[in-house]
Amino acid sequence: MEATISGTNAVRAGVMFDGTRQHGPSTVLIHEGRIIGVETGRFEPPHDVPVLDFGADAFLMPGLIDAHTHLVFDASATSTAAVTGDYDRPALLDRMRATAASVLRAGITTVRDLGDRDYVTLQLRAEFAERPERGPHLLTAGPPLTTHGGHCYFLGGEATGDDLAGAIRERYERGCDVVKIMASGGQMTQGSSLEQNQYSAAELATAVETAHRLGMPVAAHAHGVQSIRDAVVTGVDFIEHCSFLRDGKVVADADLLDAIAAAPTVVSGTFGFSRLPEGKPGLLALLDDMRAAFAELARRDARVVVGTDGGVSPIKPHDVLPYAVADDLRQIGFTPEQALAVVTSRAADALGLGWNKGRISEGADADLLVVSGSPLADPARLRDVRAVFRSGIRVR
Ligand SMILES: [Zn+2]
Repeated sequence: MEATISGTNAVRAGVMFDGTRQHGPSTVLIHEGRIIGVETGRFEPPHDVPVLDFGADAFLMPGLIDAHTHLVFDASATSTAAVTGDYDRPALLDRMRATAASVLRAGITTVRDLGDRDYVTLQLRAEFAERPERGPHLLTAGPPLTTHGGHCYFLGGEATGDDLAGAIRERYERGCDVVKIMASGGQMTQGSSLEQNQYSAAELATAVETAHRLGMPVAAHAHGVQSIRDAVVTGVDFIEHCSFLRDGKVVADADLLDAIAAAPTVVSGTFGFSRLPEGKPGLLALLDDMRAAFAELARRDARVVVGTDGGVSPIKPHDVLPYAVADDLRQIGFTPEQALAVVTSRAADALGLGWNKGRISEGADADLLVVSGSPLADPARLRDVRAVFRSGIRVR
């Protein structure tokens, strides 16, 4: 369903989560894409305001925010194939539009894309800014910076040493929201090792300094312990994955956990699987250890958000974020309300979206999700989507 609403409209549900806490029956007033009023308890809007009442068992909350995804990848077993070598840009963009629409219909209303090819996501960002009912609010990095032949080099972002500053300036001039840099190796690239640093600490420092001078945050892909250390020391804004890998194990020493918690750095954990990787007990054990490390980060009040890395494989579809709330955040030790805050208000704060996103409050964008039943009681309810609004427009 796609409908533009004009004038003032009201949305009502039996329970509301405002991004921080739960309320009883609530009515949200929407005008020109924004929330202009939030009323809890008994409230009758003026007669000329249409009320869409989802009923007593409906749970109204802010749209979800995924801090790390890749719209260029197609979530297949060969997810990089469509963007390597000569690729068909119009066909790629068409697929990305369809993906973005499905992400939105899942209730994910803001997405940070941390790596494309040829800045294709900038085009989508512009399209969705114009027609918000077509896709989530997008933050984009453009092609991730990597070393020559390094992790995801095929996306076209190779730059090292003295070339880093120019590459970052190019991203700034094109209008990217964030600089993504592959501080360590990664999984999708042959010959790349997750535990090995790709850049020296000096190069990372140059990247951070250059980006910050231009007012851009830096998100560093870091699996290995040393790359995480370097990211903290150099003042990287977001540590992506933060897998604490050393010698094939998760090694999260207290001093590094303390350093991360003490830094302004946001830790973007990679969670959410539509099903668990089969026949890979080693991987499952690693995942458990990573959750344990994130539990330690959470216990230290580190700034934790969730990015799914949506698109990289078949168990990572782009709309997988609700699984992270159900399967990972609760195990990490977040209370049910904290877990929902991590993917709404806390994510908005961390991504610099302020009070516009991740909250049901006066003045915020009317990006809303309605599900059946309470995800605070049963997080699987997050996937029982009844309605989604983007900028006040109902898209499902
Ligand atoms: Zn990624």
